[in-house]
Amino acid sequence: MTGACKTGHHPKHHPSDALLVGYGAGSLGEGLSLALALHLASCPECRAALADIDAVGGALLEALPPEPLERLTLADTLACLDAARPERRPPSRHFVPPGESRTPSLLRPYVGSLAAAPWQRLAPGVRRVELLPRTPRGGSAQLLRIAPGTALPHHGHGGLELTVVLSGSFTDELGRYVAGDVAEADDEVRHQPIADGHEECLCLIATDAPLRFTGLMGRLMQPFIGL
Ligand SMILES: [Zn+2]
Repeated sequence: MTGACKTGHHPKHHPSDALLVGYGAGSLGEGLSLALALHLASCPECRAALADIDAVGGALLEALPPEPLERLTLADTLACLDAARPERRPPSRHFVPPGESRTPSLLRPYVGSLAAAPWQRLAPGVRRVELLPRTPRGGSAQLLRIAPGTALPHHGHGGLELTVVLSGSFTDELGRYVAGDVAEADDEVRHQPIADGHEECLCLIATDAPLRFTGLMGRLMQPFIGL
């Protein structure tokens, strides 16, 4: 992430509008919210888009005809009040400028420091630390460190997968991704990311359902990678 700022470069790969709307509405899971927050921290363009979404959302709420109170149950009313509270936004929605440290501020509540995190070796050149245990729906968030020249198994997706590059870079069938960039993959996409730079690629991967590995290596790694 800090690499993006040092060079004055802005991300080229952005999340879809649907994801920004979901984020603005606070309806994404924690893993996806964290991925979006990491991207937003280095993307003025998406921060501006999010501000527009917030403005439109507020206008829509004001334009709704007032519901007669007697038609609402107490639970409905409480739910409405809850929904109107600004602090109901995901806690990760704070744009923390990247600091001196190599550990992005947004990740510190999850891992402390990257250097001291309990990295597990998944395969030659691939290490992982899990940030969020998988939810009942199968979502997850984890960090991967991929050595230069190393390819992840070719895989498809049972749901949405967001990858945010924090440092280094990777290339897959859809493009090249550097610090700050988001790769969004869904049921339609099968891809094989390769760390293509001279430095290790550090990225966060958030999913909302288990991935399906397709190649032989992928099937062998599936139980270990737990993506
Ligand atoms: Zn963006």
